[in-house]
Amino acid sequence: MRLIQINKTYGDKTVLKDVTLDFPIGKVTVLVGPSGSGKSTILRSLNFLVTPESGQYDFNDHQIDFSQSISNKEKLAVRRETGMVFQDYNLFPHKTVLGNIIEGPTQVLKMGKKQAIKVAKELLAKVGLADYGDVYPSELSGGQAQRVAIARALAMKPRYVLLDEPTSALDPELELSVLKVLLQLAHEKQSMVLVTHNMAFAKQIADKIIFVENGEIIYDGDPKKFFSQDNSSKRIKNFIASMT
Ligand code: ADP
Ligand code: MG
Repeated sequence: MRLIQINKTYGDKTVLKDVTLDFPIGKVTVLVGPSGSGKSTILRSLNFLVTPESGQYDFNDHQIDFSQSISNKEKLAVRRETGMVFQDYNLFPHKTVLGNIIEGPTQVLKMGKKQAIKVAKELLAKVGLADYGDVYPSELSGGQAQRVAIARALAMKPRYVLLDEPTSALDPELELSVLKVLLQLAHEKQSMVLVTHNMAFAKQIADKIIFVENGEIIYDGDPKKFFSQDNSSKRIKNFIASMT
């Protein structure tokens, strides 16, 4: 998928300026940058949680012009293919873990309940929570809740999984359980777009890295070069140093 020259403003504040980005299939694209630089706005644009004023969005055979009105049908089609994972999990509190995971498949994909439960159980095993199907979100640790949120996103079989600082709310030891799941997904070539402040993890998982500052793309490319001492950008070096 690809964003082409998108612009977003809030009032008279420009938040994204002519942002053009490619998110390759089968790869992990990682967005980094200072707080308030526009990372979440980019991620949310991919899922229409935010609508830029102008620019284009190419997704598979959909070509969306943000300056035109976008039909609900088109939004749903793209949303179904872009599973979002939030910093604070956003699980349905009144539903069990299994209930959370089968909601999308049964309601949106119209999958039979039996089949949805089978898929959900497989996904729970995959994220290391095979025994947690009947538990309510309030009984989970943050790391467990986030792994359920990832399983829930995967249950829709999205082309891309979008993750906005998925481990920022977690203590380091709980964070590790989530990072392991993401590394496994990367290994399986699940397409992902990840916003993170964890530079060591970004370095480990990224196929492509994007540095955003003040709504502009300062770097877009090879992670090796980004993290290398030879990186010619003083700004990027300072940023990495400040984060580690
Ligand atoms: P990041 O995720 O990199 O921290 P965001 O994309 O969340 O940055 O925000 C970029 C800028 O847009 C920030 O200055 C933020 O204050 C502003 N912003 C984000 N959402 C809104 C909103 N709903 N209303 C007004 N300003 C917003
Ligand atoms: Mg953000």
